[in-house]
Order: sequence, then C-alpha cells, then structure tokens
Amino acid sequence: MPFSKLALSEPLLKAINDLGYTAPTAIQKKAIPVVLSGKNLVAAAQTGTGKTASFALPLLEQLNNGHKLRGKRIQALVLTPTRELAVQVEASIAQMAKYTDLTSMAVYGGVDEAPQKQALIWGIDILVATPGRLLDLAHQRALHFDELKVLVLDEADRMLDMGFIEDINKIIERLPSSRQNLLFSATISDDVRSLAKRNIANAVEISVSHDKSQKPNIDQWLVTVDKSNKSALLSHLIIDKQWQQALIFIETKQGAAKLVSQLDKRGITADSLHGGRTQAVREQILADFKSGKIKFLVSTGIAARGLDIDGLERVVNYDLPKQVDEYIHRIGRTGRAGAKGEAISLVSKDNFRELCAVESRLGNIILRKSFEDFPVKKVVPVSILNFKPKNKR
Ligand code: AMP
Repeated sequence: MPFSKLALSEPLLKAINDLGYTAPTAIQKKAIPVVLSGKNLVAAAQTGTGKTASFALPLLEQLNNGHKLRGKRIQALVLTPTRELAVQVEASIAQMAKYTDLTSMAVYGGVDEAPQKQALIWGIDILVATPGRLLDLAHQRALHFDELKVLVLDEADRMLDMGFIEDINKIIERLPSSRQNLLFSATISDDVRSLAKRNIANAVEISVSHDKSQKPNIDQWLVTVDKSNKSALLSHLIIDKQWQQALIFIETKQGAAKLVSQLDKRGITADSLHGGRTQAVREQILADFKSGKIKFLVSTGIAARGLDIDGLERVVNYDLPKQVDEYIHRIGRTGRAGAKGEAISLVSKDNFRELCAVESRLGNIILRKSFEDFPVKKVVPVSILNFKPKNKR
C-alpha cells in the first residue's frame, strides 16, 4: 500500500518522498487513520517501527489548516523521556513539516531556558518536550495550553520507569480537557495501562511488533573475561579486528571516563556520553558520533533508547545491563533498516545473573568466542535458560 492511500495531503507526501519512505510501516498503516479520525490512541510499538511518523504525519495533516496561533500557545505537545529523544523526534517532525507552514521546537532541561522562552513568544505548533523543563516553562508562564488540541505521550513506559509520573500528572492537569490523546509505549505494562485508563477515554488500541521480514540482522556474540582484563580485551578487539565504529555501553559515568582514558593509553581515541555532561556537549558528541568524527563512543544507558544512528556497525556491552529490556534496546541501535549489525558483550563472572536473564529472554545461549591472549581465571558458567529475575517488571 502506498502512502497516497492514507489521506495525507501533497505537502506531506512530498516530504515523505524526500525522506525516501516508499510505503507505510505496519504501525503507520494502523495508526494514521485512527489519528486522522480524531480518536484517542494507545499503541504498543517500539522505536524502529516508524512510530514517530505514525503520529507526526496525521498530526501535521490535522494542524495544517492555516490556524494562526496566539503568542506562547501550542497546538500539540509531544512528551518524551529524554533530551536526546526530544531532539530526535523534533528533527523528524521538522523534516515531515518542511512543505507546511507549521512550526516545531524541542524544549528540554540542562540548557539555558532563555532561548526556549524567546522562541515560544510567537507560539509553536508542535512542541516536543521532556516533562521537567516543560513544567518549569509553564510555571513561569512562558507557555499556555489553552489552544492545545493534541497530547502525545511517547515512550510512556520509559517515562514511568524514569519516575516522571507526577510531572506527567501535573502537566495533564493544566491541559484543556477536550483534546486528543495518543500514547505510544514499547510495552503496555500495568503502570502504562493505569496511566492510559486515568487520562485516555475510549482509546483505540493497536499493537505492532517488529516486522519479521525487517527483523534486525544482528550478529550477537560474547567473550567471557576476567573483570580486570575487560579494557585490555576491548582494545584488543578494536585493534585486532580493525573496528571502525562502536557504541560501547557501560554502567556508570565514572566507569565511562575511566574506560575512555584506558583506551586512550592504548592509542584508541574515544569519547563518552553520560548524564554528567552538559546538554550542549552531549548533543555535539552525538552529532560527531553520527557523522563518524568520533569512532568509539562509551555511553551509559541514556543513549540506549530511541536513538537512531544510521548504519551503526556494532554495539558493545562492556557491562551487561541490570535490566534485561535494556539489553534488547541497546542491541537494537545496530542492524537497523536491513543493515547488518553486531552486538558483543564482555561478560565476567559477576555478570552471570544478568547473562542468565538476557539469554533466558532471547531463548538461546549467545555464541561464546575466546581469545588466546585473554585466558579466563574466573570461569563464567553456562546459563540456565529458564532464569526468571526477581523484582523485575
Ligand atoms: P522510529 O520508530 O519512529 O524511531 O523510526 C525508525 C526509523 O525508520 C527512522 O530512521 C525513520 O526515518 C524510519 N522510517 C519511518 N517510517 C518509515 C517508512 N515508512 N519507510 C522507511 N523508513 C521509515
């Protein structure tokens, strides 16, 4: 089915064409007609399914009617869990809006408020925001919600995981009660369901999984290694296998800084991305990584979700994540859009619990490779595949 069957007007079809999308994805086929009809929507869809366009296109279609906004007003609000996602979603909306007169902007914390306030003075049609900064701006009366027509909660599960429920409730209290609500979430957990129940009446529910034919092509393998040898092993892999690029996940920001300097001592230039860096620095680093200027990026979990890095060759779990969902999200940064990707985990004996959880979720043991120069003293046993981690969602 082509996009032209979806009742989208010429300026949007032209932008879709420029983006190189030839046909709508499963979520777009299902969500676009629902959103265009003005109904509420609760959608179970992960990043990578094309969910951003599934709400952005019909939103732009509805709002592209010549309406003149008053100052400090917005027509649609998209709430996202992280600054990075806010930037990415807004950039995507702006691309789709390029042949319309609609305006969009992202607001998020960690940067100076003044330019955001300034930009809001004339009103913005679609505002993409993280909850905390949005509330700050609303408290300062830098924006008003009385012209708001549509609320989008993007990655609702992630926002709840990050403890934004109170902020979300406070924001919703300020919105006009007559509005369209769209909720997107990778998983519809009990918490997400109750958020939807409280705020979204009569929603159409849709669910899509990743299209099997577009299943990411990710080659997963692991190396068991003594903890003290991890950075040496990583350097060995980078040099010996002539890696040109890797997104390396690590648990703590201290660990990230340390690893960058350990790599540096072995002649490998890397940079780090974590919550301790300013927003401007984080944005610059991400841009440099996307453009290839930075080849090796050591990151804490913040970069794991939602980010779309074109043709990312590989992801390395320097530490396995504590939450098994996080593993899936991390490796999903590679092997996107039909490209081949690689996900490598460095596993020491103290990661055994996390390894069991990951392999149980995958339903198979991950291929183990070993390297002569890195014999293991503390052997990592083979996982028990029906492992059920306690106190997990
Ligand atoms: P998302 O799930 O919104 O993060 O989108 C994932 C990726 O799919 C992004 O790089 C989009 O540009 C791309 N994308 C979205 N819709 C389509 C489509 N219909 N055809 C091809 N690529 C798409």
